[in-house]
Amino acid sequence: MSSSQPFDAAIIGGGVIGCATALNLACGGMRVALFESDGLCRAASGRNAGTLTMLYTRASLIPYAIRGREMWRDAAEWLSRDAGFHHRHGMELAFSEEVTEELAVQHRLRSEAGAPIEMIGGNRAREIEPALSGDIVGAAYSEVDGYAKSYGIGILFHAALKEAGVTVHDGTPVLGVEPGPGGHVVRWAVGQASARLVVMTSNVWIGKMAAWFGVNFPITIRVNQGTISERIRPLFNSILRVPNELSLKQFEDGTVLMGGGRGEHWVEDADKGDAQQDISIVKSKMAGAAECARRVIPALREGRVVRTWTGYEGFTPDNQPLIGPMPGVEGVFVAACIRSGFTIGPFAGRLLADQFLGREPEMPIFSPAFDPARVVGMEPYDREASAQIA
Ligand SMILES: Cc1cc2nc3c(=O)[nH]c(=O)nc-3n(C[C@H](O)[C@H](O)[C@H](O)COP(=O)(O)OP(=O)(O)OC[C@H]3O[C@@H](n4cnc5c(N)ncnc54)[C@H](O)[C@@H]3O)c2cc1C
Repeated sequence: MSSSQPFDAAIIGGGVIGCATALNLACGGMRVALFESDGLCRAASGRNAGTLTMLYTRASLIPYAIRGREMWRDAAEWLSRDAGFHHRHGMELAFSEEVTEELAVQHRLRSEAGAPIEMIGGNRAREIEPALSGDIVGAAYSEVDGYAKSYGIGILFHAALKEAGVTVHDGTPVLGVEPGPGGHVVRWAVGQASARLVVMTSNVWIGKMAAWFGVNFPITIRVNQGTISERIRPLFNSILRVPNELSLKQFEDGTVLMGGGRGEHWVEDADKGDAQQDISIVKSKMAGAAECARRVIPALREGRVVRTWTGYEGFTPDNQPLIGPMPGVEGVFVAACIRSGFTIGPFAGRLLADQFLGREPEMPIFSPAFDPARVVGMEPYDREASAQIA
């Protein structure tokens, strides 16, 4: 199964970043092929908590997250579909004065980057969310927060990409990219296609793809986790977060999603799947998430956990994304390891497409801070420093 007509662009990796890039390029007039090993948005992009928050986005990415959140809100305009966006307030909670002060320092950086975050006391937090525990001393509060429904996003993208004329090769792991007529040849098990431009949007798999070109990206893979409860009576409306522990939201159907959980969980090889995960950590994070949720909202004792799942996030040595040219390889680009990548995804895709279409992007996307070449030769991300993940 080979395509004789060269494509203008081949996108490798059908998560939210790859789908949004492919869609915007096709809408800009390019002939685009999108390659995805599995189904669209079934890795991190379909397993994440869907939170569109400024409260745990890295300060350097806040301007991108603000615009990404707006794009999820306005998904009907660019995706021609409702992505299940809900506006909510957000609060990051502290159970001590010491943590309140730490939050104030961290959030000052985010505020300076444009996030509308203010510090409030425990009583004000309980006025906003009466079900909150009396033990909460202070909180960082943002009026601008919310979520979109990540678990159904691949189906929406699939339909929109087809409508835009993108050739979608799902269930198609790419095995290599080599120089060829018209630019590059993208090769998979039963076929190949030519493309002038190749964009690798493969997140935790980017290290493997860089190796095709003899480039070494030191990528560290963290297992993140989501846990969901049965339906419970409406208890709270805001998106809540306990620093370095979990995020908490209650959907309209009453289920409560707990994102994260105490403790770190890392794996070596994204291709080895769930089998390499430490099941004892998965269990303890699930139990810890439920316990922490009840500490935040005591009435959650009424509910039971029904399911937990995991997904992978890629960390670069400096925890900044890789966005820009593949070092030393003309016509091949990278957009991977973007923290808060679900929030930022639609906007990153638009900026990347503008860059490749020769239009002025609304914000710089090929910034020196994101340049993939900077990480070559660096030591991998320091796992002990994971408290700085936010
Ligand atoms: C549990 C969890 C909770 C999270 N919560 C949030 C949140 O609340 N808010 C938020 O903003 N972010 C959140 N994130 C982060 C967010 O999900 C990611 O940053 C984002 O989805 C990354 O998108 P992506 O397109 O870069 O990567 P991915 O979604 O990982 O997509 C990469 C794709 O590349 C494909 N691929 C790999 N190799 C090949 C190959 N050889 N050929 C073809 N395809 C290939 C993979 O199959 C995969 O589908 C969370 C992540 C996890 C795991």
